Amino acid sequence: MNPVFADLPVSVFEVMSRLAREHDAVNLGQGFPDDPGPQDVREKAAEAVIRGWNQYPPMMGLPELRQAVSAHYQHWHGQAFDPETEVMITSGATEAIAGALLALIEPGDEVVLFQPLYDAYLPLVQRAGGVPRFVRLEPPRWRFSEDDLARAFTPKTRVVLFNNPLNPAGTVYPREDLELLARFCGRSGAIAVCDEVWEHVVFDGRRHSPLIGIPGMRERCVKIGSAGKIFSLTGWKVGFVCAAPAIMRVLAKAHQYITFTTPPNLQSAVAYGLGKSDDYFATMRRDFQRSRDRFAAGLRVLGFPVLEAQGTYFLNVDLKPLGLNEDDEAFCRRLVAEHGVAAIPVSAFYATEAVRSVVRFCFAKRDATLDTALDRLAGALKRAA
Ligand code: GLN
Repeated sequence: MNPVFADLPVSVFEVMSRLAREHDAVNLGQGFPDDPGPQDVREKAAEAVIRGWNQYPPMMGLPELRQAVSAHYQHWHGQAFDPETEVMITSGATEAIAGALLALIEPGDEVVLFQPLYDAYLPLVQRAGGVPRFVRLEPPRWRFSEDDLARAFTPKTRVVLFNNPLNPAGTVYPREDLELLARFCGRSGAIAVCDEVWEHVVFDGRRHSPLIGIPGMRERCVKIGSAGKIFSLTGWKVGFVCAAPAIMRVLAKAHQYITFTTPPNLQSAVAYGLGKSDDYFATMRRDFQRSRDRFAAGLRVLGFPVLEAQGTYFLNVDLKPLGLNEDDEAFCRRLVAEHGVAAIPVSAFYATEAVRSVVRFCFAKRDATLDTALDRLAGALKRAA
């Protein structure tokens, strides 16, 4: 069996969700909202299942959805993508990432990855034969410097896998950081695979800037988005890929032999949803921001050192200043077993030199869920140092 997968542990999200069920805990681990998602979008999907087409849709995605993705990014980011040659629909962003890595990496190519990194990235890079080169990010800012990039990029760099806004840190990278990264991509000739699934989930009036919009990057980026994150429907697994035709041609071949297509009914519901008014997106952000603030305030009262969350569904606490005699993983195991709250230890997002003091909570929950979690967390910091 292939050792990359044979030797992998079960994903931390699955482990923590299982522990949450065993201990009847409030699950603030795996990132999914309590909210069932917009009713009109779900009704469109239901209607499409009953009355629509349930056979194979076109391999590249329903024309109406590719058109809607193109219009959506034109409207939100001022980016023009030709729906015929530059947009493809995949079964979730994870398929898009896997396909891009399989299509772009040749064995021995170096791939720049930023830690903390989403757990799927490294095995997929390794299975494609890529050699990882890590940029290590640290709390509280999680930013990278020119020196950091200079250490990671080499003449063998072929691909950069960049997640912005960043899960788990909740960082929304400002334009100057994107320009710095773009300079390194240009110099090395690397293609950036941009996991931008959190592009709409940004707070405090921030706007997400796609790396593909930075000068020089239009022809060397694969922009990946996700309906699951845009509509709080994380189980839907409808991803969007945008890239220049020369890259897309190859990505399409990978998609053709991974899933080939994506359920047509979900595609037509997403096409409808992407056209929703700006109000929908503003309200979604405002609601998540309110939950973030409510949960952050509660955690602070309990003495948790809360880090800034600029985007995503996640709020992190850095336990370091508390001098507890346990790392993030031990803390999370105790939290779920003794206090009935599941969270994610951020060390699980590092392959090397892990930061071991940060714990991630998903705040995309109803007030009652967050309040129950806060009640249960009240005693959790009492353990003697
Ligand atoms: N994206 C989700 C998170 O970060 C996890 C998805 C999964 O379980 N693989 O919590």
